[in-house]
Amino acid sequence: MKYISTRGQAPSLGFEDVLLTGLARDGGLYVPSFFPTFSKNDIKSFRGMSYQDVAFRVMKPFVCPEISETDFKDIIEKAYSTFRHKAVTPLAQLDSNEWILELFHGPTLAFKDVALQLLGHLFDHVLTKRGRKVTIVGATSGDTGSAAIECVRDRACAEIFMLHPKGRVSDVQRKQMTTVMSPNVHNLAVEGNFDDCQAMVKALFNDLSFRDEITLSAVNSINWARVMAQIVYYFTSAVALGAPDREISYTVPTGNFGDIYAGYVARQMGLPIRQLVVATNRNDILTRVLTTGDYTIGSVSPTISPSMDIQVSSNFERLLFDLYDGEGSEIRRLMDNLNQSKNFTIDGPQLDRAQSIFDAFQVSENDTEATIKTIFEDNCMLIDPHTAVGIKAARIKNSDINTPMVTLSTAHPAKFPDAVKKVTGQHPALPPHMADLFDREEKYDFLDHDLDALKSYIRLNR
Ligand SMILES: *Cc1c(COP(=O)(O)O)cnc(C)c1O
Repeated sequence: MKYISTRGQAPSLGFEDVLLTGLARDGGLYVPSFFPTFSKNDIKSFRGMSYQDVAFRVMKPFVCPEISETDFKDIIEKAYSTFRHKAVTPLAQLDSNEWILELFHGPTLAFKDVALQLLGHLFDHVLTKRGRKVTIVGATSGDTGSAAIECVRDRACAEIFMLHPKGRVSDVQRKQMTTVMSPNVHNLAVEGNFDDCQAMVKALFNDLSFRDEITLSAVNSINWARVMAQIVYYFTSAVALGAPDREISYTVPTGNFGDIYAGYVARQMGLPIRQLVVATNRNDILTRVLTTGDYTIGSVSPTISPSMDIQVSSNFERLLFDLYDGEGSEIRRLMDNLNQSKNFTIDGPQLDRAQSIFDAFQVSENDTEATIKTIFEDNCMLIDPHTAVGIKAARIKNSDINTPMVTLSTAHPAKFPDAVKKVTGQHPALPPHMADLFDREEKYDFLDHDLDALKSYIRLNR
């Protein structure tokens, strides 16, 4: 598979280079040059298969033969051996035709493990083969950080620097990052919000000489391999619920547009997905652009679903690329606008097309809490606030009661204990392997919102 940049001015690359590079050198994101498709019979053959076997079949066209089939199978086995549930991403039923897809059974209790556990082994494989080492720099609004750290901790092939907005991630989230004592792990608490952190990381990537100096790499959701790993659970869950003989709908609590974009790719690959609902909290830039075409960056407002407190949704550029028929010049025009005046507009056929694929709904803080309460009362189940945002949007936007509606459950409730306890009176317990998290020692440094300070820190500590 060849990969091309959404902005049309970077060299096309193979899978391994896309994996290591992250952001393209023209500022764009890498996308596959075409989406492989599966026939109805191909999809039927997934019935009864293990998660790992479906994963191999779904991802193979993106990865092999650059990585051999035997090696890739082995990588998939290792990646998902850390999940505490045999089905890896099991479905749980809420009502007659309503489900949640539990994506939180990995080491850090959020859906990002599904992709990042795979990425760690892919990095290891490719870097060992090439005899190279990389410096990974990332920004996190909470869950990416710990998942990325778990993905590369104690590996000789990578040094990782993770920026989080100081005081704006939950205690559990911070501790999951800062209690990892591996010498190749560096946590930085930055003065500012998540978008400030992400802007610093983007600026590093755009500084080509620094980028080469430290062999910079990314595990943020701009990395194609992450999107790719997330396509798999749309297939496993849809097949479990009767696809390809019936359609399935999905609602996705959305921040950076990575997880839902993976659902869009699954649909392009032939999975019969009826509705794809984008669920946002009051940071609603995606709901706005999909309902009115207006993508205007506002200021980030903190919520009880902090992993979605985002105003710039990086992966949206990948969808724009398809809406504009792969015209890199159009994407450059929109992104230049965004840089200069903090907004762009999509309209006409592009907006129509986006609206024919996606629904969107913005969920208030009150409704998020009410949903946590309702699910506890009706289903005797504790859910985290991100999942609650999804369920609320799913219930509002579901347009056909005969189509199963699946909401992606993106985090374990114990990751956000305060919000859950406030509403239900129940304290969600951490699973046994993490029960002593609050007794573990922490290690991290503070950093100003200053690019030069970040560069010096990396030079000094890598
Ligand atoms: C990262 C995250 C999201 C948002 O996912 P995107 O791929 O950025 O849209 C939602 N919920 C949780 C718990 C997350 O960690």
